[in-house]
Amino acid sequence: MSLTDTIIIGAGPYGSSLAAHLKAAGVDHQILGEPMGAWRNYMPPGMLLRSEAFASSMHAPRSGFTVEDYCRLKGLPYRPLGMALPLETFVEYGLWFQKNLVGEIQPVDVLALRRVGDQFQLSLSDGRSLAARRVVIALGLKGFAQTPTALQELPPQYASHSELYGNLEWARGKDIAIVGGGQSALGLSALLNELGARAHVLMRESSVVWHERPHGGRNILSRIKGPDAGLGRGWRSLFLSEFPGVFHMLDPRRRKLIMEHTYGASGAWWLHDRVVGKVQISHRTVVRSAAIENDRVVLNVLTDGKEARVSADHVIAATGFKTDMRQHAFLSKDLADAISNQGGMPDLNSHYETRVRGLYVIGPASAHSFGPVMRFVYGTKHASPTVARHLIGSLKAGSRQRAWPVTHAPMPERSGE
Ligand SMILES: Cc1cc2nc3c(=O)[nH]c(=O)nc-3n(C[C@H](O)[C@H](O)[C@H](O)COP(=O)(O)OP(=O)(O)OC[C@H]3O[C@@H](n4cnc5c(N)ncnc54)[C@H](O)[C@@H]3O)c2cc1C
Repeated sequence: MSLTDTIIIGAGPYGSSLAAHLKAAGVDHQILGEPMGAWRNYMPPGMLLRSEAFASSMHAPRSGFTVEDYCRLKGLPYRPLGMALPLETFVEYGLWFQKNLVGEIQPVDVLALRRVGDQFQLSLSDGRSLAARRVVIALGLKGFAQTPTALQELPPQYASHSELYGNLEWARGKDIAIVGGGQSALGLSALLNELGARAHVLMRESSVVWHERPHGGRNILSRIKGPDAGLGRGWRSLFLSEFPGVFHMLDPRRRKLIMEHTYGASGAWWLHDRVVGKVQISHRTVVRSAAIENDRVVLNVLTDGKEARVSADHVIAATGFKTDMRQHAFLSKDLADAISNQGGMPDLNSHYETRVRGLYVIGPASAHSFGPVMRFVYGTKHASPTVARHLIGSLKAGSRQRAWPVTHAPMPERSGE
């Protein structure tokens, strides 16, 4: 089995951006996963990106590879703010980025990752095995979908999670209940309504928080009061977008508070007119239980304290994600336990390394450590150069750093920061 220095698991924006940096620096690496797989397979055609166009670029090791550069090259319309980038354009941009900056991407799944001595061993879906000194996990939101308990026992033909869409043609002419009050719920409801399904959104919030349409050309005073940032307008957004390294230095309790109380459920400005007055929304509504009756799913809900029944052909839980590394079935149990805190989140140091030396986590699963920007492509701006610098630095430091103490500890822990 040949030994690679670094293997990146996942070929979405995070894995690709890091691979581009490693390729530029001449670091021996391999990248595994379906190129832009999550965006190509699990997002509904016709979807518009929630992030502004200027904040949707994957970070590159050299200039010329932003969404703006791509749109200019292809003669597509581009505005940094207030444009609503189509999913299809973003996917094509991602594939173009990969073609130009990333080496060969192997479209295989990792079925098992384990630590053997001072190496990681990977079993792949095509039957091969690989070994690496360092592994970077860049799997996006995979495995982290949260479904309310009331819906968990429903058979898959009656209930699904918003993480899986995907083409929505199957829903034409059907009654679809959507549980949730955020971008996924509202976005799906608009698309479903437009293709001729009857969508009914059930949300516990008493109203929808709509984002204001951003526009350029603001005067200087307005821009000082509320600067435009990767995560949205305002100084808080600017801090969280540009300084994930400082977020990492905050006390863990403060980080947790920020994660829980910023960027709650909301809808993008471009969804407002496609939803309001067109899609049925029940506010202050929670689902208590669900059952199948006459080939329909019947939800027992509580709206403003009053019980009611909602009947549909299918229910979609657009109820978000919760990072839990133990959900990654390909991780050996000892690795999963070693890298996870009690809640299942990876405990990362300032260069995204887990408690197991040589094992890194980037992307949405690192948000607990580096802030909400890691849930967006914009976070590649910090993650990729930081991890690449660390990997290059430790390579330069020579083999002394890689001679891990395998004899007295089964799982070499990283040293201090
Ligand atoms: C509906 C929806 C809309 C979103 N809209 C936006 C938006 O507008 N702007 C934004 O910035 N973010 C958005 N996001 C968040 C977005 O998912 C992340 O910003 C981004 O995709 C994270 O990139 P990633 O590289 O970490 O993971 P992903 O893009 O999810 O890529 C994961 C990669 O891992 C691969 N993979 C999975 N399992 C395995 C395995 N076992 N072995 C090997 N490879 C594997 C996949 O094939 C894929 O290549 C949205 C998310 C959702 C669900």
